[in-house]
Amino acid sequence: MSLAEDLLWLCTIPSLIGEERALCDAVQARLAGRAQGAGIRRYGDSIVVPLSRGSGGPHVVLGGHLDVVRTEHDGPPRIEGERLYAPGAADMKSGLCLMLALAQRPLPPGVDVTLVFYAREEGPYAENELGPVLAADPELTGASIAVMLEPSDNKLQLGCGGSLHANVRFRGRTAHSARPWQGDNAIHQSAALLQRLSALQPTTDERDGLTWKNVISATMASGGRARNIIPDVFELNLNHRFGPSTSVQQAEQNVLSLVQGEAEVELVDISPSAPPLRHHPLVAALADSGALAVEPKQAWTDVARFAALGVPAVNFGPGVQAQAHQRNEWTLLPQLEVGYAVLHTWLTRIGAP
Ligand SMILES: [Zn+2]
Repeated sequence: MSLAEDLLWLCTIPSLIGEERALCDAVQARLAGRAQGAGIRRYGDSIVVPLSRGSGGPHVVLGGHLDVVRTEHDGPPRIEGERLYAPGAADMKSGLCLMLALAQRPLPPGVDVTLVFYAREEGPYAENELGPVLAADPELTGASIAVMLEPSDNKLQLGCGGSLHANVRFRGRTAHSARPWQGDNAIHQSAALLQRLSALQPTTDERDGLTWKNVISATMASGGRARNIIPDVFELNLNHRFGPSTSVQQAEQNVLSLVQGEAEVELVDISPSAPPLRHHPLVAALADSGALAVEPKQAWTDVARFAALGVPAVNFGPGVQAQAHQRNEWTLLPQLEVGYAVLHTWLTRIGAP
């Protein structure tokens, strides 16, 4: 099958987050004959597919999430000209399509290649199945490098920014709003913090010639019982995004310092950052194999999970990045061929002689 046919096949099997089983089953069935050794290893709705072994060369893991976010579409999955329209066409069934192709076409010699298709990436960090898969599959954590095929327009996107969400809770005391002095207004208590937040300027984090921005924003707010009651609770969600030089502990400290003890702070979803590793030989070889550019990855991706286990990891994928999570999401079919050629060139180049 052509790459376009493979992508259409992937897109005609719906896989909303939490509903990945049918797609996982289908991919598993399709690749059953291609797995080496003891075959495909399944964990929940995720699979690990060893494609080649015993090469004596580097062990490359290619990873992609099976799930897609819920978006609106005006028609069924379809090809129109150079575009393929479907939920997840760009994010990231385009990447899965290249993984399928590598499984079905001859691989260059001299590299061990393993594919990981996993569930629940588009949700909270703790529910993402790649975490338990990595914990259960020691072969993956011994890999030489991992490439996550998130949509990047065939650019090599290095490292990733970390993300921390904090629930910040101000507590006061209710009163009738005609007599506010009898209570303590939880919303008003947040004024100083909001002022500090709005005065905050992004700071930069430069690594290997790439620049990340450290930022903290209030992204949600809730509080109040009724229009005529002084509120006793007011909650803000703060989202801190931070570059590779900031550890999770430092990120927590940044939020606590900003709040200055004026409210209760509950850290609810913490995802570490990952370093770019631009000068790692396998990363440099990928940059030299036709990747269209080298950029920092400002958003969080699963490269951080591999990085935390000591496995170098990068983002490189053929999908149209700007189409991720969009209504009527589409991706460009010609980019699939380019992405496949880059990966194939790279695998050939790094293979043991
Ligand atoms: Zn994605």
